[in-house]
Amino acid sequence: MSRIKVVSFDAEGTLVTPDFSEAIWQEAMPALYAQKHGLEFEQARRSMIDKYAEVGDQKIEWYNIRYWFDLLALGDPGPAIERCLDKASCYPEVNEVLSSLKGKYQMVVSSGTPIDFLNHLLRDIDPFFSHVFSSTSHYQQIKCPEFYLAICQQLKVEPGEVAHVGDSRQFDFLIPQQIGINAFYLDRSGKEREGALVNLSQLESRLQD
Ligand SMILES: [Mg+2]
Repeated sequence: MSRIKVVSFDAEGTLVTPDFSEAIWQEAMPALYAQKHGLEFEQARRSMIDKYAEVGDQKIEWYNIRYWFDLLALGDPGPAIERCLDKASCYPEVNEVLSSLKGKYQMVVSSGTPIDFLNHLLRDIDPFFSHVFSSTSHYQQIKCPEFYLAICQQLKVEPGEVAHVGDSRQFDFLIPQQIGINAFYLDRSGKEREGALVNLSQLESRLQD
């Protein structure tokens, strides 16, 4: 893959753990919802999970915390977000991997997470990246082929000069691959499917294949 100029990373589940998202979606929001409707926490949590599933991750609203706070009349999301921010952390290998790739490739983040969350989630590793692209905030769409094409255009590279890695088989592997990006599926569960990475330490050697 000597043509690779840009390495693009998904954020949640790839560079940073899902702990922040889990705290906000599965703890803080259900707690507010339970309080508002006089429900037990667990009952509220199950009800919220059903509501998330009804919308589903193929629709842009699913990613928008303000949409949910408005829909459920939960007030201002700011304080709940603040309370969960300290949960954000990188996976253990991330700093070493990014340090090793630095100077060899331009590095960017391509995520479906809203940009205000990304700014917090990536705060410790932000200097490694030339750009942070949020499909939902900057392009008002989920991670579709047009999103990846727009990134290539903005970076002035061909899709074949980009490698992307992420933990969603659909959004980080099949879709970027459709437009000719060299995509790597990250399966941290260890149930490695053929060709999948189990952590990011395996990425650099795969880029040199
Ligand atoms: Mg992800």
